Amino acid sequence: MGVDYYNCGVCGEIFTDCGPYEICTKCESFICGWCLEDTQEKYGTGNPPEGEEGYYGEDAPDGCSNCDPEIVTDAAINKYLFKQSGKTKEELTAEILRLRKSSQ
Ligand SMILES: [Zn+2]
Ligand SMILES: [Zn+2]
Repeated sequence: MGVDYYNCGVCGEIFTDCGPYEICTKCESFICGWCLEDTQEKYGTGNPPEGEEGYYGEDAPDGCSNCDPEIVTDAAINKYLFKQSGKTKEELTAEILRLRKSSQ
């Protein structure tokens, strides 16, 4: 029992396994309920890798914006910038809070 938390590969939001979600059959990203319909419509469903059908839901999308070679998600940009900055999460948090205060 208990609730599991996942990070949506498309929108980056944290969601729980209480609601609907699927796993992308291409990159194994978890896709939250809010992004699911659009993702299924765009990339199609029903083609899990052979022998792994049990792992994926019946309506698991065959791709998502996380593994689309043409798309860079906000989450991917954030990750990239974070790495480029060379700062820790704590340093960035302090910086953002300082900026927020000074712009008020
Ligand atoms: Zn999402
Ligand atoms: Zn994917």
